[in-house]
Amino acid sequence: MDRGSSAVIAYAADRVLNTDPVETIERGVVLVDESRIEWVGRRADFDKLGAGRGAQLVDLGDVTLMPGLIDAHVHLAFDGGDNPVDRMNRESDTQQVALMVRSARRLLSVGVTTARDLGARGYTDVVVRDAIAEGTLQGPRLLTVGAPITITGGHCWFMGGEADSFHDVRKIVRLHHKNRVDQVKVMATGGFMTLGSAPWYPQYETEALVVIVAEAHRVGMRVAAHCHGVEGIRRAVEAGVDTLEHCSFVLEGGELSYDPQLGELIAASRAFVSPTINLRAKDFDPTFIERLGQLRRAGARFITGTDAGIDHVPHHGYPQSLPLYRELGMSTAEVIESATSLAATALGLSGVTGRLAPGLDADLVAVRGNPLDDLSALADLELVVARGRRFVPDELPEIGPLPDDLVPMTERHSFERLDGDDA
Ligand SMILES: [Zn+2]
Repeated sequence: MDRGSSAVIAYAADRVLNTDPVETIERGVVLVDESRIEWVGRRADFDKLGAGRGAQLVDLGDVTLMPGLIDAHVHLAFDGGDNPVDRMNRESDTQQVALMVRSARRLLSVGVTTARDLGARGYTDVVVRDAIAEGTLQGPRLLTVGAPITITGGHCWFMGGEADSFHDVRKIVRLHHKNRVDQVKVMATGGFMTLGSAPWYPQYETEALVVIVAEAHRVGMRVAAHCHGVEGIRRAVEAGVDTLEHCSFVLEGGELSYDPQLGELIAASRAFVSPTINLRAKDFDPTFIERLGQLRRAGARFITGTDAGIDHVPHHGYPQSLPLYRELGMSTAEVIESATSLAATALGLSGVTGRLAPGLDADLVAVRGNPLDDLSALADLELVVARGRRFVPDELPEIGPLPDDLVPMTERHSFERLDGDDA
């Protein structure tokens, strides 16, 4: 189907899985009118209502039809290869856009119908977002942040978002707003991917984060805080950010240890945790999931994101990341909720996507099997519909094992390297 042809389609499936709350309609129908969901219910009721609507019936049979999935943390401009930062720094903005189009298509090819891109150069993300929104390109609905706000020489400074003083940070939020980004990302701590940046060091005083949050919220933009180190996480929470990215509890020197007091603070706050669990999570940081499990038991709310695009994390690895959330003590239903309705709420899209309800955008996936029984069913896609438009998945490259000589990210202390001999 493409836009312009018959507009009303009834997708029938043996199981229609809704997400708020998570419940299954046996033999259900989702009626789609152009880009929107018009009706959701049982096949028997649909037949009674009559297809007086002139709907074209597409019977998908033995599949689970459900809302499209959400990845709350991706990097379209990183290629997921050996050295994505190097590639970004070599490429022109035009080349970056080409890469971003491929990344976006790969996300949609595995059923991700909404993605929040957390850092791009020169508002290339806004260009790609708009092209998808207007139908020029096919891809997930994108939320953009432009260049992450960071201190001079700080984490991901090369994307162009350096700002230090209160004046600077207020100004860059305004500049981003003027250039029509959707949200703001601030690097509350250093990171693993930037020379001269250490993940455990906070980059801003709480007061500067407060300025960023106030200025962003004033114009209706949410704030995502990249934060690895405990002190930076604490400051981000105190400043009232909306999502905590990574939240990895890194201590001085790179030691990794859950902090129960901070966990309580996070659970009591407004912030959602976007922990960036991806298919490499255990290789990169063998105890990450254990620490997140403790955070979850403290009561924190999690949404799913993968950091797709960073070293060795391809954009089409999303389905493989979801079963790992079970190890945090989440049920399959809770994981599905985190990947759909809860993520939509956290990103400010609850009136747009993440559920099957009349008036919402028709973002749908159908998978063989039943993800409520086994989340790996989400890798077995039968249908992808984004804003009512059917998408034929691209052929995707095999996801290989990690190179043998990989140094885990948690052991790469790039801060030392800035002045060290191997810099
Ligand atoms: Zn990231």
